[in-house]
Amino acid sequence: MTVSVTGATGFIGTRLVQRLHADNHNVCVLTRSKSKAETIFPVKNFPGIVIAEEAGWKDCIEGSNAVVNLAGMPISTRWSPEIKKEIKESRIRVTSKVVDLINSSPQGVRPTVLVSATAVGYYGTSETQVFNENSPSGNDYLAEVCREWEGTALKVDKDVRLALIRIGVVLGKDGGALAKMIPLFMMFAGGPLGSGQQWFSWIHLDDIVNLIYEALSNPSYKGVINGTAPNPVRLSEMCNQLGNVLGRPSWLPVPDFALKAVLGEGASVVLEGQKVVPAKAKELGFPFKYPYVKDALKSILS
Ligand code: NDP
Repeated sequence: MTVSVTGATGFIGTRLVQRLHADNHNVCVLTRSKSKAETIFPVKNFPGIVIAEEAGWKDCIEGSNAVVNLAGMPISTRWSPEIKKEIKESRIRVTSKVVDLINSSPQGVRPTVLVSATAVGYYGTSETQVFNENSPSGNDYLAEVCREWEGTALKVDKDVRLALIRIGVVLGKDGGALAKMIPLFMMFAGGPLGSGQQWFSWIHLDDIVNLIYEALSNPSYKGVINGTAPNPVRLSEMCNQLGNVLGRPSWLPVPDFALKAVLGEGASVVLEGQKVVPAKAKELGFPFKYPYVKDALKSILS
């Protein structure tokens, strides 16, 4: 199979491309920066991988069986009005381009599958509700971003199988939320961030990569699929487990003001959360390798 991937140079994309390449699939890395992509996927380790900047995306997509769309400006930064605008527009811009290129590809050579990322932020935040794929969207900024992001992907022609993966907080080595949380956590001797009561719907990097990989070839994977582990935890529980694995005490909460000083409005991503369950993935029999956060953290950090 030939797969084109946007956001291939990111935390999830890099691992996905490594996996596709290891399994002898052809990969087109759709990027804004060829030089950056070439350092991540050097030709000596990744022979045969095609790296294309925007002008080359059309040829790549036309020759692909499937497209994975992961690109977007990182949200875990200090939010300013300009950054908030780019967080939303980067996702809509890239998704719109991918969808247009798929829809305008000649029949017969066009991709038949689009796996497009979105996020559990779609549901808004709550300390009491449980969200599955049928739950309504929230009414905060991230929910609005996700709705528009998904709405853009939904414009792909109906004969293309679309899987929209609402991704939770991805836990993996050397990146993502853990890379940001650990220094804060260590600085404050290890403890919950904010009240600790907020829900933390997480997924191990291996599991999200496996879910996307499965969605590429399994026709049952279509529509919205929550990309979260079956056992979300409150943040206090996550921090206790993190403390155990790191061998640090977990008693002093990291105060809201410290998080806001580092992340500004973006701190809401960790100060507020949502309990999201992967109803569809379970129904599909997806085999989670790491259903429990303790085992996920152990595998990543020990
Ligand atoms: P990363 O931030 O690691 O990578 C995203 C990629 O998007 C980058 O490698 C870059 O690729 C591209 N990109 C970055 N900024 C822009 C921009 N301004 N305009 C266009 N493209 C841009 O993301 P992850 O791998 O962590 O996540 C992949 C997707 O999944 C993201 O859209 C993210 O929102 C979503 N997600 C991730 C979660 C997580 O915990 N990691 C949780 C929920 C959702 P290049 O420079 O090659 O163009």
